[in-house]
Amino acid sequence: MVAGVLVEISNKNVDKIFDYKIPKELEEKIKVGIRVLVPFGRMMIVGFVLEIKDEFNDKYELKEIIEVKDEDIILTDELLELGKKISKDTLATLISCYQTMLPKALKAKHDSVVNKKYDTFYRIKGEIEEKLPSKQQELVDLIKAKNEIIRSEALEISSSALNSLLKKNYLEEIKKEHYRVDYSDAIVPKKELTLEQDLAVKKIDLKKHDVYLLHGVTGSGKTEVYMELIEKALLDGKSSIVLVPEISLTPQMVSRFQQRFGKKIAAIHSALSDGEKYDEWRRIARGEALIVIGARSAIFAPVKNIGIIIVDEEHSDSYKQSDMNPRYNAKDIAIIRGKYHNCPVVLGSATPSLEAYARALKDVYKLVELPHRVNGKELPVVNIIDMNKEMKYSKGHFSKELLEAIKIRLEKKEQIILLLNRRGYSSFVSCKNCGFTFKCPNCDITLTYHKSSNTLRCHYCGYGEKNYEVCPSCHEKALSNLGVGTQRVEEELQNNFPDSKILRMDYDTTSRKGMHEKMIKSFKNHEYDILLGTQIVAKGLDFEDVTLVGVINADTGLNIPDFRSSENTFSLLSQVAGRSGRSNKSGEVFIQTFNPNHYAISYTKKHDYIGFYKEEMSIRRALKYPPFYYLVSIRVSGSDEKEILNEALKIKRALMRNLENTIILGPSSATIFKLNNIYRYNLILKYKKEPNLLDVLEKILDHYKNKVKIKVDVDINPSQML
Ligand code: ADP
Ligand code: ZN
Repeated sequence: MVAGVLVEISNKNVDKIFDYKIPKELEEKIKVGIRVLVPFGRMMIVGFVLEIKDEFNDKYELKEIIEVKDEDIILTDELLELGKKISKDTLATLISCYQTMLPKALKAKHDSVVNKKYDTFYRIKGEIEEKLPSKQQELVDLIKAKNEIIRSEALEISSSALNSLLKKNYLEEIKKEHYRVDYSDAIVPKKELTLEQDLAVKKIDLKKHDVYLLHGVTGSGKTEVYMELIEKALLDGKSSIVLVPEISLTPQMVSRFQQRFGKKIAAIHSALSDGEKYDEWRRIARGEALIVIGARSAIFAPVKNIGIIIVDEEHSDSYKQSDMNPRYNAKDIAIIRGKYHNCPVVLGSATPSLEAYARALKDVYKLVELPHRVNGKELPVVNIIDMNKEMKYSKGHFSKELLEAIKIRLEKKEQIILLLNRRGYSSFVSCKNCGFTFKCPNCDITLTYHKSSNTLRCHYCGYGEKNYEVCPSCHEKALSNLGVGTQRVEEELQNNFPDSKILRMDYDTTSRKGMHEKMIKSFKNHEYDILLGTQIVAKGLDFEDVTLVGVINADTGLNIPDFRSSENTFSLLSQVAGRSGRSNKSGEVFIQTFNPNHYAISYTKKHDYIGFYKEEMSIRRALKYPPFYYLVSIRVSGSDEKEILNEALKIKRALMRNLENTIILGPSSATIFKLNNIYRYNLILKYKKEPNLLDVLEKILDHYKNKVKIKVDVDINPSQML
């Protein structure tokens, strides 16, 4: 017999199935979907068995499979097919797709590192006739009472007694696999659903596949709806997958699930070690965990018999893998798996992506709405503050109104969340005399000023140098630090309110494992009055005593050269505003902006998603952007600027010859034109219908697959335009 094996080398040249002879003694063990070790050239390589055939072509002497790596199938038929589809749709190598689907521990080079852990237990073997010394008798009695005990417990009584009993062969030793993640089984009674929630649950049919868009305002209780649906699926013996944008940033949501479903949950955190992730993966594969919660890659969890798939905050761009192949979108995968399992897929958001809402209006998705908050209160009042006027009076980052509002809340002992939008924004040094700014010599981006080390650093490649005393360009002593960091805003805030307790939360302060969760707990316990942070504070937090939300700079996101910048700003502002007044007390929001008339801001004030949607759609239509057109971005990169521009132009001509209905833009230099001394040009394709497109792109990629100096990357339906 012969096995078709896909080897673990991600290179377009070897991304095909190679035949290997199955030695007689392995015939029983070899199954489709397991990994094997095979000779490949001069190496030994791990590969996946994708097919098994009876006969083979005698012309060549086939090499033999050396050994079997897995006892159980790791890629089910469903996942094998899914990998092929992703490879076809994203033009990534098949092996890269399978690798993305599996935990790291199952990849070749990690193979020897991660071992299963075992716990040892003891039981009594048979009747013990002799009279035992007291310690040994104590141990025997304990084991008899409990039926079995774990080694550590036996050692607590006496290690020598344990050893004697083992020597006399009175004890049976049992090894049980030890999972590294522990879940408590605390079950909190579920909440009674509101009428609106109950109606939403009833609209979702668990018996067949449909895609639902759950459009629920902030605080409308979407999570409770998810949990009810999952419970219904469980009662039917079915499992579920819940995707969240960044699991490490949503501990509150995960703990709500754990409190309700206990050990049935597998939470796939980025903070888990490779070994812990592997444990979770196996608990899922064995059907011990029936509810999987995780970020993007959790969509590949080896759950069988799925009853529902939920994608929370569906508008988040984190569902798209943008930085490496395969450039897949977990929402697409959710729908493919939903069809396979004939189960519903629920996309939830307070601010749905334009794509999703447009589909819902066309009845491609079914729209389910939660228009009111659970607490029955109105959404918080949003005040827009024109910072152009404010700046005439004040030098700081805070307007008079916002400071006054903070003061009132502090007096009432209510809590405050402040957002400093730092997307594409950080502190940098510039010369007041000549306007000179420091840029990275490798990457062509502004260097960031680090106060603690007094250095200038590139956040892309890590380049760094000491900060300067005088401007290198005009030699004046006029350098100054521009831009805002959370630290500076914190200082200013503390000066204004010396007695207040401020908790600063950004990617720096939360990078240590468990830190973020700890901060959230201490804020919930009122150990702080004000939570000041970056985008992190906009995400899914639920604090009942927060009645004021302030946005310090609403505009930074609007300046990003991306056609989605208005949509992202509207969504961020609406989300953060939604943290205010979620419980008994009414909430209020202040948004500071230099663009008070921008529609993304004025629709946030009115909590008018539909109004924003309509206005943004008319712009997208006029400019031929999604959801009216599909996009593909092609990046050509290399160290020789002239050469890559030439190649980009060649690619454009080839596309023009072969495509009929596609608009081709560029080549234009990428937003970050030079990164690590590699130049980057982009081409952008816009089309409505272009049946040949994938074939044409595949040919182009094939043409460049062996070129060392030029790299071509294709991103189909990109989420960011950088
Ligand atoms: P969303 O995700 O839509 O913003 P959440 O699911 O976080 O809203 O719910 C907001 C708050 O309301 C949470 O504190 C939640 O525990 C509470 N809640 C949700 N549903 C109910 C209910 N039916 N009865 C009482 N409280 C509820
Ligand atoms: Zn750099």
